[in-house]
Amino acid sequence: MAATSLNAPNAPLLQKTHQTHVFLKTISTIPCQTSAKRFSISCSATTQDRLSVQSQSQDRVFNFAAGPATLPENVLLKAQSELYNWHGSGMSVMEMSHRGKDFRSIIEKAEADLRSLLNIPENYAVLFLQGGATTQFAAVPLNLCAPGDSVDYLVTGSWGDKAFKEAKKYCNPKVIWSGKSENYVRVPSFDGLELNPNAKYLHICANETIYGVEFKDYPVPRNPNGVLVADMSSNFCSKPVDVTKFGLIYAGAQKNVGPSGVCIVIVRKDLLGNAQESTPVMLDYKIHADNNSLYNTPPCYGIYMCGLVFEDLLKQGGLEEVEKKNQKKAGILYNAIDESKGFYRCPVEKSVRSLMNVPFTLEKSELGAEFLKEAEKEKMVQLKGHRSVGGMRASIYNAMPLAGVEKLVAFMKDFQAKHA
Ligand code: PMP
Repeated sequence: MAATSLNAPNAPLLQKTHQTHVFLKTISTIPCQTSAKRFSISCSATTQDRLSVQSQSQDRVFNFAAGPATLPENVLLKAQSELYNWHGSGMSVMEMSHRGKDFRSIIEKAEADLRSLLNIPENYAVLFLQGGATTQFAAVPLNLCAPGDSVDYLVTGSWGDKAFKEAKKYCNPKVIWSGKSENYVRVPSFDGLELNPNAKYLHICANETIYGVEFKDYPVPRNPNGVLVADMSSNFCSKPVDVTKFGLIYAGAQKNVGPSGVCIVIVRKDLLGNAQESTPVMLDYKIHADNNSLYNTPPCYGIYMCGLVFEDLLKQGGLEEVEKKNQKKAGILYNAIDESKGFYRCPVEKSVRSLMNVPFTLEKSELGAEFLKEAEKEKMVQLKGHRSVGGMRASIYNAMPLAGVEKLVAFMKDFQAKHA
Protein backbone atom coordinates (compact mmCIF):
# COMPACT_ATOMS: atom_id res chain seq x y z
CA MET A 1 0.00 0.00 0.00
CA ALA A 2 1.57 3.24 -1.06
CA ALA A 3 0.57 6.55 0.45
CA THR A 4 -0.80 8.80 -2.23
CA SER A 5 -0.91 12.53 -1.86
CA LEU A 6 -4.16 14.43 -1.90
CA ASN A 7 -3.09 16.02 -5.14
CA ALA A 8 -3.62 12.70 -6.83
CA PRO A 9 -6.52 12.61 -9.24
CA ASN A 10 -8.44 10.15 -7.06
CA ALA A 11 -7.94 12.22 -3.91
CA PRO A 12 -11.04 12.87 -1.85
CA LEU A 13 -13.12 15.98 -1.78
CA LEU A 14 -11.17 17.75 0.81
CA GLN A 15 -8.57 19.54 -1.16
CA LYS A 16 -8.33 22.84 -2.87
CA THR A 17 -11.69 24.14 -3.94
CA HIS A 18 -12.38 27.52 -5.46
CA GLN A 19 -13.55 28.66 -2.06
CA THR A 20 -11.17 27.15 0.38
CA HIS A 21 -7.70 25.83 0.55
CA VAL A 22 -7.25 23.12 3.08
CA PHE A 23 -3.67 22.24 3.73
CA LEU A 24 -3.34 18.82 5.11
CA LYS A 25 -0.65 18.15 7.61
CA THR A 26 -1.46 14.86 9.20
CA ILE A 27 -1.86 11.59 7.55
CA SER A 28 -4.54 9.13 8.36
CA THR A 29 -4.80 6.20 6.11
CA ILE A 30 -8.03 5.67 4.30
CA PRO A 31 -8.18 2.56 2.21
CA CYS A 32 -9.54 3.31 -1.21
CA GLN A 33 -10.61 0.86 -3.87
CA THR A 34 -10.09 1.57 -7.50
CA SER A 35 -10.74 -0.73 -10.38
CA ALA A 36 -7.01 -1.22 -10.74
CA LYS A 37 -5.69 -1.72 -7.25
CA ARG A 38 -6.19 -0.97 -3.62
CA PHE A 39 -4.15 1.92 -2.28
CA SER A 40 -3.98 4.41 0.55
CA ILE A 41 -4.34 8.11 0.39
CA SER A 42 -3.10 10.77 2.72
CA CYS A 43 -5.97 12.45 4.34
CA SER A 44 -6.48 14.27 7.56
CA ALA A 45 -10.03 15.63 7.66
CA THR A 46 -10.30 14.79 11.29
CA THR A 47 -10.04 17.79 13.54
CA GLN A 48 -9.65 21.43 12.89
CA ASP A 49 -6.40 21.68 14.79
CA ARG A 50 -4.78 19.25 12.41
CA LEU A 51 -5.67 21.45 9.52
CA SER A 52 -4.48 24.77 8.42
CA VAL A 53 -7.56 26.26 6.89
CA GLN A 54 -7.28 29.39 4.88
CA SER A 55 -10.70 30.80 4.34
CA GLN A 56 -11.29 32.77 1.21
CA SER A 57 -14.47 34.37 2.32
CA GLN A 58 -14.28 36.82 -0.55
CA ASP A 59 -15.55 33.98 -2.70
CA ARG A 60 -18.72 33.74 -0.67
CA VAL A 61 -21.62 36.14 -0.85
CA PHE A 62 -23.31 37.85 2.07
CA ASN A 63 -26.52 35.89 2.18
CA PHE A 64 -29.37 37.78 3.81
CA ALA A 65 -31.90 34.99 3.27
CA ALA A 66 -34.55 34.34 5.91
CA GLY A 67 -33.95 30.60 5.92
CA PRO A 68 -32.32 28.38 4.94
CA ALA A 69 -29.80 30.99 5.85
CA THR A 70 -26.13 31.69 6.09
CA LEU A 71 -24.09 29.40 8.35
CA PRO A 72 -20.87 30.30 10.18
CA GLU A 73 -17.97 29.96 7.79
CA ASN A 74 -15.79 28.16 10.32
CA VAL A 75 -18.57 25.62 10.90
CA LEU A 76 -18.85 24.96 7.18
CA LEU A 77 -15.11 24.51 6.95
CA LYS A 78 -15.04 22.17 9.89
CA ALA A 79 -17.88 20.14 8.37
CA GLN A 80 -15.95 20.08 5.12
CA SER A 81 -12.84 18.85 6.88
CA GLU A 82 -14.81 16.08 8.59
CA LEU A 83 -17.08 15.22 5.69
CA TYR A 84 -15.16 12.35 4.18
CA ASN A 85 -13.95 10.63 7.31
CA TRP A 86 -15.46 11.71 10.60
CA HIS A 87 -12.91 11.52 13.43
CA GLY A 88 -11.12 8.58 11.87
CA SER A 89 -14.28 6.47 11.75
CA GLY A 90 -13.64 5.81 8.07
CA MET A 91 -17.00 7.19 7.06
CA SER A 92 -19.01 10.35 6.80
CA VAL A 93 -21.63 11.25 9.41
CA MET A 94 -24.13 10.77 6.57
CA GLU A 95 -23.21 7.12 6.36
CA MET A 96 -23.30 6.21 10.04
CA SER A 97 -25.85 4.14 11.83
CA HIS A 98 -27.94 6.39 14.01
CA ARG A 99 -27.71 3.71 16.68
CA GLY A 100 -23.93 3.40 16.60
CA LYS A 101 -21.68 4.87 19.28
CA ASP A 102 -20.28 7.54 16.98
CA PHE A 103 -23.61 9.08 16.12
CA ARG A 104 -24.75 8.73 19.69
CA SER A 105 -21.76 10.78 20.79
CA ILE A 106 -22.69 13.41 18.20
CA ILE A 107 -26.33 13.76 19.26
CA GLU A 108 -25.48 13.60 22.96
CA LYS A 109 -22.90 16.36 22.61
CA ALA A 110 -25.30 18.46 20.54
CA GLU A 111 -27.91 18.15 23.27
CA ALA A 112 -25.43 18.82 26.07
CA ASP A 113 -24.09 21.92 24.31
CA LEU A 114 -27.59 23.23 23.66
CA ARG A 115 -28.44 22.64 27.31
CA SER A 116 -25.39 24.70 28.34
CA LEU A 117 -26.16 27.47 25.88
CA LEU A 118 -29.76 27.93 26.99
CA ASN A 119 -29.25 26.73 30.53
CA ILE A 120 -31.98 24.14 30.02
CA PRO A 121 -32.95 22.49 33.31
CA GLU A 122 -33.10 18.71 33.76
CA ASN A 123 -36.88 18.72 33.93
CA TYR A 124 -37.05 19.70 30.27
CA ALA A 125 -36.59 17.25 27.40
CA VAL A 126 -34.69 18.32 24.29
CA LEU A 127 -35.91 16.67 21.09
CA PHE A 128 -34.38 16.70 17.62
CA LEU A 129 -37.29 16.14 15.25
CA GLN A 130 -38.22 16.44 11.58
CA GLY A 131 -41.04 18.07 9.69
CA GLY A 132 -40.08 21.67 10.40
CA ALA A 133 -41.82 24.11 12.68
CA THR A 134 -44.94 23.68 10.57
CA THR A 135 -45.35 20.14 11.91
CA GLN A 136 -45.21 21.53 15.45
CA PHE A 137 -48.23 23.72 14.66
CA ALA A 138 -50.17 20.42 14.84
CA ALA A 139 -47.99 18.53 17.31
CA VAL A 140 -48.32 21.21 20.00
CA PRO A 141 -52.12 20.99 20.38
CA LEU A 142 -52.10 17.23 19.84
CA ASN A 143 -49.69 16.79 22.75
CA LEU A 144 -50.82 19.48 25.11
CA CYS A 145 -54.60 19.28 25.03
CA ALA A 146 -57.73 17.22 24.52
CA PRO A 147 -59.93 17.94 21.49
CA GLY A 148 -62.32 20.31 23.29
CA ASP A 149 -59.72 22.18 25.32
CA SER A 150 -59.38 25.95 25.04
CA VAL A 151 -56.06 27.51 24.13
CA ASP A 152 -54.99 31.11 23.43
CA TYR A 153 -53.03 32.43 20.46
CA LEU A 154 -51.43 35.85 20.39
CA VAL A 155 -50.91 36.59 16.71
CA THR A 156 -48.16 39.06 15.80
CA GLY A 157 -47.53 37.84 12.25
CA SER A 158 -48.34 35.24 9.68
CA TRP A 159 -46.51 32.35 11.37
CA GLY A 160 -48.56 32.76 14.52
CA ASP A 161 -51.64 32.92 12.32
CA LYS A 162 -50.69 29.68 10.58
CA ALA A 163 -50.09 27.99 13.93
CA PHE A 164 -53.55 29.11 15.10
CA LYS A 165 -55.25 27.82 11.95
CA GLU A 166 -53.61 24.42 12.30
CA ALA A 167 -54.55 24.19 15.99
CA LYS A 168 -58.23 24.58 15.04
CA LYS A 169 -58.15 21.01 13.77
CA TYR A 170 -57.16 19.59 17.15
CA CYS A 171 -58.59 21.77 19.92
CA ASN A 172 -60.45 24.99 20.57
CA PRO A 173 -58.03 27.86 19.98
CA LYS A 174 -58.90 31.53 20.23
CA VAL A 175 -56.98 34.50 18.88
CA ILE A 176 -56.82 36.77 21.90
CA TRP A 177 -55.05 39.50 19.97
CA SER A 178 -54.04 39.92 16.34
CA GLY A 179 -51.93 42.63 14.74
CA LYS A 180 -53.24 41.78 11.28
CA SER A 181 -55.36 44.91 10.77
CA GLU A 182 -52.25 47.06 11.38
CA ASN A 183 -50.15 44.85 9.13
CA TYR A 184 -48.29 43.30 12.06
CA VAL A 185 -46.10 46.09 13.33
CA ARG A 186 -46.24 45.56 17.08
CA VAL A 187 -46.68 43.36 20.11
CA PRO A 188 -49.62 44.41 22.32
CA SER A 189 -49.26 45.48 25.93
CA PHE A 190 -49.75 42.37 28.04
CA ASP A 191 -51.91 44.21 30.61
CA GLY A 192 -54.91 44.57 28.37
CA LEU A 193 -54.95 41.02 27.02
CA GLU A 194 -58.11 39.03 27.63
CA LEU A 195 -56.48 35.74 28.41
CA ASN A 196 -58.72 32.74 28.93
CA PRO A 197 -58.44 31.53 32.57
CA ASN A 198 -58.91 27.95 31.31
CA ALA A 199 -56.54 28.00 28.38
CA LYS A 200 -54.20 25.00 28.43
CA TYR A 201 -51.54 27.10 26.79
CA LEU A 202 -50.80 30.51 25.40
CA HIS A 203 -48.99 30.42 22.05
CA ILE A 204 -46.72 33.14 20.71
CA CYS A 205 -44.30 33.38 17.81
CA ALA A 206 -41.27 34.89 19.55
CA ASN A 207 -39.94 36.40 16.33
CA GLU A 208 -42.11 36.85 13.27
CA THR A 209 -39.67 36.23 10.46
CA ILE A 210 -41.66 37.98 7.74
CA TYR A 211 -42.73 41.13 9.58
CA GLY A 212 -39.70 41.48 11.84
CA VAL A 213 -41.64 41.71 15.11
CA GLU A 214 -39.88 40.23 18.14
CA PHE A 215 -41.08 39.76 21.71
CA LYS A 216 -38.60 41.40 24.11
CA ASP A 217 -40.36 39.95 27.14
CA TYR A 218 -43.06 37.36 27.49
CA PRO A 219 -46.68 37.23 28.61
CA VAL A 220 -47.72 34.90 31.42
CA PRO A 221 -50.74 32.64 30.88
CA ARG A 222 -53.71 33.54 33.07
CA ASN A 223 -54.46 29.90 33.83
CA PRO A 224 -52.02 28.96 36.64
CA ASN A 225 -51.90 25.46 35.16
CA GLY A 226 -51.49 26.71 31.63
CA VAL A 227 -48.12 27.11 29.93
CA LEU A 228 -46.50 29.50 27.51
CA VAL A 229 -45.57 27.95 24.15
CA ALA A 230 -43.25 29.73 21.73
CA ASP A 231 -42.28 29.26 18.14
CA MET A 232 -38.66 30.48 18.28
CA SER A 233 -37.71 29.35 14.79
CA SER A 234 -36.16 32.62 13.74
CA ASN A 235 -34.53 33.83 16.94
CA PHE A 236 -33.49 30.54 18.51
CA CYS A 237 -30.09 30.85 20.22
CA SER A 238 -29.79 34.50 19.21
CA LYS A 239 -29.91 35.64 22.84
CA PRO A 240 -30.31 34.14 26.31
CA VAL A 241 -33.82 32.96 27.10
CA ASP A 242 -35.21 31.88 30.45
CA VAL A 243 -36.51 28.47 29.40
CA THR A 244 -38.39 28.05 32.68
CA LYS A 245 -40.90 30.68 31.56
CA PHE A 246 -42.06 28.28 28.86
CA GLY A 247 -43.78 24.92 28.85
CA LEU A 248 -42.59 24.32 25.32
CA ILE A 249 -40.28 25.99 22.81
CA TYR A 250 -39.91 24.83 19.23
CA ALA A 251 -37.63 26.01 16.45
CA GLY A 252 -36.82 24.96 12.92
CA ALA A 253 -33.02 24.87 12.68
CA GLN A 254 -32.51 26.46 9.29
CA LYS A 255 -32.18 30.07 10.39
CA ASN A 256 -29.81 30.25 13.30
CA VAL A 257 -28.53 26.81 14.17
CA GLY A 258 -28.18 24.52 11.17
CA PRO A 259 -29.59 23.26 7.92
CA SER A 260 -33.27 22.61 7.24
CA GLY A 261 -34.59 19.20 8.20
CA VAL A 262 -34.11 19.49 11.94
CA CYS A 263 -36.67 20.94 14.30
CA ILE A 264 -35.78 21.31 17.95
CA VAL A 265 -38.39 21.00 20.68
CA ILE A 266 -37.68 21.84 24.31
CA VAL A 267 -40.55 20.66 26.47
CA ARG A 268 -41.19 20.41 30.19
CA LYS A 269 -41.25 16.73 31.03
CA ASP A 270 -44.43 16.80 33.10
CA LEU A 271 -46.33 17.88 29.97
CA LEU A 272 -45.46 14.64 28.19
CA GLY A 273 -47.62 11.55 28.00
CA ASN A 274 -51.05 13.08 27.43
CA ALA A 275 -51.14 13.18 23.64
CA GLN A 276 -54.52 12.77 21.97
CA GLU A 277 -55.25 9.20 20.99
CA SER A 278 -55.17 9.91 17.31
CA THR A 279 -51.69 11.49 17.52
CA PRO A 280 -49.39 9.92 14.92
CA VAL A 281 -46.46 8.25 16.56
CA MET A 282 -44.07 10.67 14.87
CA LEU A 283 -45.82 13.63 16.48
CA ASP A 284 -45.91 12.19 19.98
CA TYR A 285 -43.28 14.04 22.01
CA LYS A 286 -43.22 11.34 24.71
CA ILE A 287 -42.21 8.69 22.20
CA HIS A 288 -39.31 10.86 21.04
CA ALA A 289 -38.33 11.81 24.60
CA ASP A 290 -38.36 8.18 25.75
CA ASN A 291 -36.14 7.26 22.82
CA ASN A 292 -33.72 10.20 23.03
CA SER A 293 -34.83 11.40 19.57
CA LEU A 294 -33.84 8.02 18.12
CA TYR A 295 -37.27 6.39 17.83
CA ASN A 296 -36.78 6.29 14.08
CA THR A 297 -33.94 7.47 11.87
CA PRO A 298 -33.37 11.10 12.80
CA PRO A 299 -31.97 13.77 10.47
CA CYS A 300 -28.44 12.70 11.42
CA TYR A 301 -26.38 15.05 9.31
CA GLY A 302 -28.52 18.04 10.21
CA ILE A 303 -28.17 17.23 13.91
CA TYR A 304 -24.41 16.98 13.47
CA MET A 305 -24.38 20.42 11.82
CA CYS A 306 -26.50 21.88 14.64
CA GLY A 307 -23.97 20.39 17.05
CA LEU A 308 -21.12 22.18 15.29
CA VAL A 309 -23.05 25.45 15.49
CA PHE A 310 -23.76 24.97 19.21
CA GLU A 311 -20.08 24.29 19.82
CA ASP A 312 -19.22 27.46 17.92
CA LEU A 313 -21.72 29.54 19.90
CA LEU A 314 -20.21 28.26 23.14
CA LYS A 315 -16.74 29.12 21.88
CA GLN A 316 -17.93 32.64 21.16
CA GLY A 317 -18.71 32.96 24.85
CA GLY A 318 -22.33 31.80 24.91
CA LEU A 319 -25.56 33.59 24.16
CA GLU A 320 -24.81 36.76 26.14
CA GLU A 321 -21.91 37.44 23.80
CA VAL A 322 -23.92 36.40 20.77
CA GLU A 323 -26.71 38.77 21.75
CA LYS A 324 -24.26 41.67 22.04
CA LYS A 325 -23.05 41.03 18.50
CA ASN A 326 -26.61 40.77 17.25
CA GLN A 327 -27.57 44.02 18.94
CA LYS A 328 -24.64 45.78 17.36
CA LYS A 329 -25.46 44.50 13.87
CA ALA A 330 -29.17 45.28 14.13
CA GLY A 331 -28.40 48.67 15.68
CA ILE A 332 -26.33 49.93 12.78
CA LEU A 333 -28.87 48.71 10.24
CA TYR A 334 -31.91 50.22 11.97
CA ASN A 335 -30.00 53.47 12.49
CA ALA A 336 -29.17 53.66 8.83
CA ILE A 337 -32.84 53.18 7.99
CA ASP A 338 -34.05 55.72 10.55
CA GLU A 339 -31.46 58.28 9.54
CA SER A 340 -32.27 58.05 5.84
CA LYS A 341 -34.85 60.84 6.05
CA GLY A 342 -37.58 58.54 4.82
CA PHE A 343 -35.69 57.12 1.85
CA TYR A 344 -35.83 53.78 3.70
CA ARG A 345 -38.47 52.98 6.26
CA CYS A 346 -39.01 50.19 8.75
CA PRO A 347 -42.66 49.99 9.72
CA VAL A 348 -42.15 48.02 12.94
CA GLU A 349 -42.56 49.75 16.31
CA LYS A 350 -39.10 50.49 17.63
CA SER A 351 -39.48 48.63 20.92
CA VAL A 352 -40.17 45.29 19.24
CA ARG A 353 -37.96 45.43 16.19
CA SER A 354 -36.37 42.08 15.48
CA LEU A 355 -32.64 41.60 15.92
CA MET A 356 -32.82 38.91 13.26
CA ASN A 357 -35.09 40.02 10.42
CA VAL A 358 -35.04 43.66 9.38
CA PRO A 359 -37.80 44.56 6.94
CA PHE A 360 -37.68 47.91 5.19
CA THR A 361 -39.32 49.64 2.28
CA LEU A 362 -38.02 52.18 -0.18
CA GLU A 363 -39.90 55.47 -0.39
CA LYS A 364 -39.51 55.19 -4.16
CA SER A 365 -40.76 51.63 -4.41
CA GLU A 366 -40.09 51.63 -8.15
CA LEU A 367 -36.38 51.47 -7.27
CA GLY A 368 -36.76 48.09 -5.58
CA ALA A 369 -35.65 45.98 -8.53
CA GLU A 370 -32.59 48.14 -9.08
CA PHE A 371 -31.71 48.04 -5.39
CA LEU A 372 -31.74 44.25 -5.49
CA LYS A 373 -29.80 44.07 -8.74
CA GLU A 374 -27.11 46.46 -7.56
CA ALA A 375 -26.84 44.71 -4.20
CA GLU A 376 -26.39 41.40 -5.93
CA LYS A 377 -23.57 42.83 -8.03
CA GLU A 378 -21.91 43.64 -4.72
CA LYS A 379 -22.39 40.04 -3.57
CA MET A 380 -25.25 40.78 -1.19
CA VAL A 381 -28.11 38.45 -2.00
CA GLN A 382 -31.61 37.47 -0.88
CA LEU A 383 -32.63 40.93 0.26
CA LYS A 384 -36.08 40.80 -1.27
CA GLY A 385 -38.93 41.04 1.24
CA HIS A 386 -41.33 38.15 1.63
CA ARG A 387 -43.80 37.94 -1.23
CA SER A 388 -46.67 38.73 1.15
CA VAL A 389 -45.26 42.11 2.23
CA GLY A 390 -42.90 43.27 -0.53
CA GLY A 391 -40.07 45.74 0.07
CA MET A 392 -36.79 44.43 1.42
CA ARG A 393 -35.80 42.24 4.30
CA ALA A 394 -32.29 41.72 5.60
CA SER A 395 -32.06 38.62 7.75
CA ILE A 396 -29.03 39.04 9.93
CA TYR A 397 -28.89 35.86 11.95
CA ASN A 398 -26.03 34.92 14.27
CA ALA A 399 -23.87 33.79 11.36
CA MET A 400 -24.09 37.06 9.44
CA PRO A 401 -20.79 38.78 10.15
CA LEU A 402 -20.70 42.40 11.22
CA ALA A 403 -18.81 43.05 7.98
CA GLY A 404 -21.88 41.92 6.02
CA VAL A 405 -24.13 44.40 7.78
CA GLU A 406 -21.56 47.17 7.44
CA LYS A 407 -21.29 46.49 3.76
CA LEU A 408 -25.07 46.57 3.38
CA VAL A 409 -25.32 49.87 5.25
CA ALA A 410 -22.58 51.43 3.11
CA PHE A 411 -24.36 50.19 0.00
CA MET A 412 -27.69 51.59 1.18
CA LYS A 413 -26.16 55.00 1.81
CA ASP A 414 -24.52 54.99 -1.56
CA PHE A 415 -27.73 53.91 -3.28
CA GLN A 416 -29.60 56.70 -1.53
CA ALA A 417 -27.01 59.28 -2.56
CA LYS A 418 -27.46 58.22 -6.17
CA HIS A 419 -31.26 58.13 -6.13
CA ALA A 420 -32.52 60.59 -3.52
N1 PMP B 1 -42.27 29.66 12.18
C1 PMP B 1 -41.45 30.66 11.83
C2 PMP B 1 -41.27 31.80 12.77
C3 PMP B 1 -40.79 30.61 10.61
O1 PMP B 1 -39.98 31.63 10.25
C4 PMP B 1 -40.97 29.51 9.76
C5 PMP B 1 -40.23 29.36 8.45
N2 PMP B 1 -39.81 30.45 7.82
C6 PMP B 1 -41.84 28.51 10.15
C7 PMP B 1 -42.46 28.60 11.39
C8 PMP B 1 -42.07 27.31 9.30
O2 PMP B 1 -40.95 26.54 9.38
P1 PMP B 1 -40.71 25.22 8.50
O3 PMP B 1 -40.57 25.67 7.09
O4 PMP B 1 -39.45 24.69 9.09
O5 PMP B 1 -41.88 24.33 8.70
